[in-house]
Amino acid sequence: MTQPMLTFQHVTHRYNGHAALQDFELSTAAGEVLGLLGPNGAGKTTSVRLANGLINPSSGSIRTLGLDPIAQGDQIRAQTGVLTETPALYERLTARQNLAFFGQLMGMSAEGCRQRSQELLSYFDLTERADDRAGTYSKGMKQRLALARALLHRPRLLFLDEPTSGLDPEAAAQVHELIATLRDTQDQTVLLCTHNLFEAQRLCDRLAIMNRGKLLAMGSLDELRREVMPGLWAELRFYQPPEPAALAAVRAVSGVMQVEELDAQTWRLQAQEEAVLPQVVAALTAQAAQITALRPNQASLEDIYFKLQSAHTEGAS
Ligand code: ATP
Repeated sequence: MTQPMLTFQHVTHRYNGHAALQDFELSTAAGEVLGLLGPNGAGKTTSVRLANGLINPSSGSIRTLGLDPIAQGDQIRAQTGVLTETPALYERLTARQNLAFFGQLMGMSAEGCRQRSQELLSYFDLTERADDRAGTYSKGMKQRLALARALLHRPRLLFLDEPTSGLDPEAAAQVHELIATLRDTQDQTVLLCTHNLFEAQRLCDRLAIMNRGKLLAMGSLDELRREVMPGLWAELRFYQPPEPAALAAVRAVSGVMQVEELDAQTWRLQAQEEAVLPQVVAALTAQAAQITALRPNQASLEDIYFKLQSAHTEGAS
């Protein structure tokens, strides 16, 4: 088995007594895009800082690329790339000068840095504006330049903290394309912190969902579906709101796990298997409910995310 690129074991981190991470566990395999999802203040940025040795955990153990971030932070940072929420660029320097400066900080040779910068500027479609100051760039261009900066020294592990935050849909789609290309063509390992569930579902191989410093669940979308929202889901539409007895009749069908009323004419039900659906239709027909549509559907990442978050909030209150 290949060595994990990043592991957190029982990690707790406190800022002035306030726990930002509590007994947190995480593991990233080589070549995967792992999504770290959670509401504001969940601890995503804290995890990135800890993994790169920028802060030390209060307790627990972290290994980044097999190294200890407390003692070997410099060695780790030489092999990781970090894109923060606000691009860390020098606005008064041109794109080329920004990359040359960071390349020097990373200990790259001037020629190696020049060649790699050329390659990345072209890859990120910035060659024509490479000699303009970064301060004159649009937000999307700055984000692409910041990504180029994060990739300059060919990091084995890339941390992307909200890479599309504040970008318009076109610029965000471009960044999505770039991340997908990195994953598919360069086998890059990425930890992607995001609030954007569409982005996460599209780009991530596995997802870690957290809240207030705790890991709620981790796995591929299919694994999370099996764990958090098992069975078959279906949406039912009615021509008119059905009688209350219809709801009771459907709940009584063997194999129906739950029924939610999304609105007066739309229900969502969870059944153990597809064979239960014809019995649901029969029960509704017996109650004179007028079904206009029955659409089996799989739980989306959004369904799973909100189910986990609300279960956690109810458990905590
Ligand atoms: P967001 O989605 O808003 O970026 P996040 O998931 O990245 O949030 P963190 O920034 O890691 O969350 O913050 C986790 C908790 O730690 C929050 O309660 C935050 O207020 C607190 N926190 C973060 N940085 C500091 C700091 N430097 N000093 C004190 N508290 C902090």
